[in-house]
Amino acid sequence: MGRISSLLSLGTLDGPGIRYVVFMQGCPLRCACCHNPETHDINGGQEYTADEIVEKVVKYKEYFGEDGGITLSGGEPLLQAEFATEIFKKAKENGINTCLDTSGCILNESVKELLKYTDYCMLDIKYSTDELYQKYVGCGIDTPLEFLRYLHQNKIPTRIRQVIVPTINDTKADTDALYELIKDFEIDKVELLPFKKICQTKYDSMGIEFPFGSIPSANAKSTKILQDNINSKLKEKIL
Ligand code: SF4
Repeated sequence: MGRISSLLSLGTLDGPGIRYVVFMQGCPLRCACCHNPETHDINGGQEYTADEIVEKVVKYKEYFGEDGGITLSGGEPLLQAEFATEIFKKAKENGINTCLDTSGCILNESVKELLKYTDYCMLDIKYSTDELYQKYVGCGIDTPLEFLRYLHQNKIPTRIRQVIVPTINDTKADTDALYELIKDFEIDKVELLPFKKICQTKYDSMGIEFPFGSIPSANAKSTKILQDNINSKLKEKIL
């Protein structure tokens, strides 16, 4: 049994292709930009068995095409690594591609077992310095970077994601620093996402403060300029 926050049957933003997205309950971090505060409490959500989840996913198999499949997101799926492993094992037995959407904040033996059944990983490198991690995530930068190295060593195709937050990590120097952290690894792509505040209502209804509530949403055009900058660096690296 594991705890699930919500299920999304045909997601297009959570990994390659069309995907069945399982938002798992529980997260050890407290990112100031978090869009899913309802997933934080490990005792919340609803209990499911791995079989119940995979039965639901299999019904959508015909929509997945070549690239799609199941994505485990959250919350933080690594917090329920053994349950996540059961889901991925069973998904793969049914010929379904598996994608993990994670902060990379835990790397123990259970997580390494989960990664044996992971076809694709979307790894958040939330900031490019340990100082920003400590201040706005609640952990150090070392484990996510160690996680990235482990993905590379095990040849798991990886997408790096970072939310661009105005005044915090929205300069070219910030994106250059991100590039420096990831340049030695095999990366499928880097996705920079503009900080949005649509989650404010979730914080309000939960009666908790949105830590970045006073920061304006990021401008999509400025984020695109940063995205172009890092894309051209990655392209130069390949050439
Ligand atoms: S890791 Fe994800 S779910 Fe956890 S606090 Fe950060 S943004 Fe929210």
